[in-house]
Amino acid sequence: MSTPALKIYNTLTRTKEEFRPLDPANVRMYVCGPTVYDYAHIGNARPLIVFDVLFRLLRHLYGAEHVTYVRNITDVDDKINARAAERGISIRELTEETNKVFQADVKALGCLEPTMQPRATDHIAQMIAIIERLIASGHAYAADGHVLFDVPSMPNYGRLSRRSLDEMIAGARVDVAPYKRGDMDFVLWKPSKENEPGWDSPWGRGRPGWHIECSAMSWAHLGETFDIHGGGIDLVFPHHENEIAQSCCAFDRDVMANYWMHNGFLQVEGEKMSKSLGNFVTIHELLHTEKFGGRKWPGVVLRYAMLTTHYRQPIDWTVERLKVSLKHLNDMYDRTRHAKTGACPNERVIQALRDDLNTHEVVVALGKLVGDAFREAKFSDELLATCAFLGLDLEELDPKKTIVSETQMLIETRIEDRLAARASKNWAESDRIRDELTAMGIILKDHKDGATTWEVKR
Ligand SMILES: [Zn+2]
Repeated sequence: MSTPALKIYNTLTRTKEEFRPLDPANVRMYVCGPTVYDYAHIGNARPLIVFDVLFRLLRHLYGAEHVTYVRNITDVDDKINARAAERGISIRELTEETNKVFQADVKALGCLEPTMQPRATDHIAQMIAIIERLIASGHAYAADGHVLFDVPSMPNYGRLSRRSLDEMIAGARVDVAPYKRGDMDFVLWKPSKENEPGWDSPWGRGRPGWHIECSAMSWAHLGETFDIHGGGIDLVFPHHENEIAQSCCAFDRDVMANYWMHNGFLQVEGEKMSKSLGNFVTIHELLHTEKFGGRKWPGVVLRYAMLTTHYRQPIDWTVERLKVSLKHLNDMYDRTRHAKTGACPNERVIQALRDDLNTHEVVVALGKLVGDAFREAKFSDELLATCAFLGLDLEELDPKKTIVSETQMLIETRIEDRLAARASKNWAESDRIRDELTAMGIILKDHKDGATTWEVKR
């Protein structure tokens, strides 16, 4: 089998390298997923879209059945505990609700489902197993119900972020704790109080640190060493550095993943996104409210807008960018309305993606296809196929569909309201919402697992 050329920029070596999978029959990629305590913001959408494009490209190059893409769900974390307490709901309710919105958001962004979406709480046994290996090999120690990774025990710690231990100590907000031997030592396991989620372990009832979750889930589903590990640039240090330390030391390997890929930062209207600046915007708000630029944005516009800048460059998320993207997409929709399916995606687009996902060049190639189709006054089958390949669903721009989806959204919002009413045992409100939907001709069905589905009365 001839290996198709694909070049990707590897953060480990700081160079663009030819991609050579360990096993072309099973190309393996891991991307750090969400911590499900709050809605995902538009900065979180960037890795989702970037690595989805890579997933699609790998499937195209190696065959769909030869690519395994794992994106985890972090469902145990102190932020989750705090938010559940604040809202007066159980941790399970919070993580289920947040994950549901997350899955809907990612789908709306045109992303394929990863091969697997493992949950941290289903991998506690693997985390404990890794921690035991680390203790046995002298890379971790237990103290005071905690287990810590002994950073000085790993000579090349800091290889990914290219920082020396001295620099890291000087730059870190070091959390001084009596049970720590070294300033940079990080938590693998910590004790849980009565009211905190916890699991039995050789070190008492407790819960994992964040970094160990990804080492455990990638090991469980992709093995000790795999091909690509991705995430946002903000994860390079300490999260990815610590994943490497844990996995390499536990399995006595030089590498955890051969290629480390990181997408650049996202800012909003020229400023760092923050709740205090009031420019914080979630994917859900962009899709379903008029908070950003005074209108709702179809997922296809958000996806396309994200691809107009190369993934390693910083991106400025602006209303203007979305407007321009919408215009380009409407032109593409116009030129594909009566196009036939089944053509091959544009070769220039595939070539551009093979060059470290050069999506800026992809946008230029799409513009050329649109321009040609207008000039020749024809519909472009190739453009349609290329958009489908890129996950750009132009049908979302059909004005009729927008109306249908708005009604659906209204129904689903009311179902969420009703579930919230039921969760707080407000049966009167729950019944009122059911009656309101019945009057619209919508029949609700409550299922045993707590979910509610709906259908139109016939
Ligand atoms: Zn991770």
